Amino acid sequence: MARQGPSTENALEARLRQQGASVTGWNEYRDIQQPYDTGFATIWEYAEAVRLREVDFSAVWEGKCPICGVRGCLRRIPSYERTVTELFPEVRTGKVPVVRLLCRKTGRTVSLLPLELAPFHRYTVPTMLRILVLLHGLFGRGVQSLEDAVLDVVTDDNDLTVGVVGRWSDVAVRGLSRGHAELRKEYDLSGIRSGTGLRGRTGEVVAYLDACGVRGPPASAAEVPPLLQSYSRTTGRFLVGRATQDRG
Ligand SMILES: [Zn+2]
Repeated sequence: MARQGPSTENALEARLRQQGASVTGWNEYRDIQQPYDTGFATIWEYAEAVRLREVDFSAVWEGKCPICGVRGCLRRIPSYERTVTELFPEVRTGKVPVVRLLCRKTGRTVSLLPLELAPFHRYTVPTMLRILVLLHGLFGRGVQSLEDAVLDVVTDDNDLTVGVVGRWSDVAVRGLSRGHAELRKEYDLSGIRSGTGLRGRTGEVVAYLDACGVRGPPASAAEVPPLLQSYSRTTGRFLVGRATQDRG
């Protein structure tokens, strides 16, 4: 596939930034993160295919620009790589390319973030949710303290801490609550009650996943991606985690 080399694209970006009278600062130039359904079974297969230039993004950059709304305004610029970790079905850490497009009108950029990823989080969403479900199961079996429960899911292969999973529970519950109105159109959420404390929050996550048809934890989180796909397709947003443009 014909594609501009990185040096050309860097030059284009630099020129636009020089010419961009409307660009008043980095705030104006900031990145928009867009959930991207890769169509690959795993994020690693997607990463490899992008590196081999086997993924065709033309439908995205020939489509309507999500920033200025003009068709054909987007140009591809160099990707960056994110470190990603997933713990299931096996522990794996690697780099995943994030493809970027430049809005030529505003000089702002759009990052296509695979929708298994939550903005600003290294662990995948299915991993985060599955850990929370596991934790809730441990509470149910009589493990009372967060420290004890986290110790049960920490191995040499990950660097989970009480602080990390505590934040995940906040992020997951906030995301699911934010998506409640949208999810309710498709799923029966009448049984959802908001919980407090880690036990309450993990319980709320479990209730949401059950209601949204994600079955089988802790054995599998394989049904998480379809939920993320349908949510992102309808709303254009991430179910878990907040994109740059949605932050205050
Ligand atoms: Zn644009």
